[in-house]
Amino acid sequence: MVWIDIPDHSDFSIHNIPFGIFSGPDGRKRIGTRIGDHILDLEKTASLGLFDHLSIDPDIFKSTVLNPFISLGKPITNSVRTKIQETINDESSILKDYPRLFISPGEVTMHLPVEIKDYTDFYSSENHAYNVGAMFRDPDNALLPNWKYLPVGYHGRASSIIPSGINLHRPKGQIKPGDGAPVYGPSRRLDFELEMAFIIGKKSELGTSISTSEAEDHIFGMVLFNDWSARDIQKWEYVPLGPFLGKSFASSVSPWIVTMEALAFAKVEGPKQDPEVLPYLQYSGNHHYDISLQVGLTPRGSRETIISHSNYKYMYWNTVQQLAHHTVNGCNVNIGDMMASGTISGTEKGSYGSMLELSWGGKKTVHLKDGQERKFLEDYDTITMYGHAEREGKRVGFGAVRTQILPATE
Ligand code: CA
Repeated sequence: MVWIDIPDHSDFSIHNIPFGIFSGPDGRKRIGTRIGDHILDLEKTASLGLFDHLSIDPDIFKSTVLNPFISLGKPITNSVRTKIQETINDESSILKDYPRLFISPGEVTMHLPVEIKDYTDFYSSENHAYNVGAMFRDPDNALLPNWKYLPVGYHGRASSIIPSGINLHRPKGQIKPGDGAPVYGPSRRLDFELEMAFIIGKKSELGTSISTSEAEDHIFGMVLFNDWSARDIQKWEYVPLGPFLGKSFASSVSPWIVTMEALAFAKVEGPKQDPEVLPYLQYSGNHHYDISLQVGLTPRGSRETIISHSNYKYMYWNTVQQLAHHTVNGCNVNIGDMMASGTISGTEKGSYGSMLELSWGGKKTVHLKDGQERKFLEDYDTITMYGHAEREGKRVGFGAVRTQILPATE
């Protein structure tokens, strides 16, 4: 019997128990979890002896990032999660005597959950890759020849990954108008990319590879990921080495890392991969996840319009294939590394994961509930991404990642 009040349809049901970093009014960061509309202070919970049976140093919950906690390994971190679930189900729990362990989300600031040493961005949604290829090249030959043989990716910028709630100034850079010479100025084609990212929970050694069957053991959990993009800067700079300043100015992440164990119930079969992939990319079991995703656009002083309904299950390449490919050359990974999926688009127009696709390269108009129209994003627009898995009354979600666009700095 759960003794704490958890609203129906909460992303943070007893089945979730994510991990994050929060600070209260004193500004001191520490580790917490979220249950319904409460944040549970795990530093104080540990000091009551709740995790003593696991022989964890209680000071680990004073960490300002989750990396030291994650480095304890899945047997320990999963046991912490399970113990919290048991405690919330236990009417005689000691925690009931300490109501101040539970803090309202309105009283805290959420921070980046991990120190991200490296960030990789994949390009693993077939519909997105098709749409971009059709728009910029040829609808009859939209996917490049390598796309179905390997999960295409690039190394992104970790320093500019920001938590939900931190606002973003419109980026500036070189833009080439039509046939004219390039000019310098604020991006006029600022865009979001609806993605999810997984976080490495177990390092690998340089020179070794992680197989698809080992990969799940190396993945701690997932977040929602908004990979901001300046399409006009990107268009001019990307040849021949790929994305650079049109991407590196910021990406936003949701604050709670939902563990792979919490998401296991949402596993579904992936698409049949044709042509058959090379042996090192073959996998057994299900590694796609049915996670429903939404993007909301809120103009300044107005109401939100949900402009995209997508789903993480639309991926062509899954997490274990991405990690196997990433390390097949002997590249090592570290705890806290973040690997984003690539924009997640479905087949229908309303399921596209970027303004680039929703406005079809600026040729179509996206209509908002308040009568406004968009092709790309305007100053003071707020983009919010939501995601959750739900099956037979069981719901596990991510909350939201929310960012407002501010005008370019002078
Ligand atoms: Ca991306």
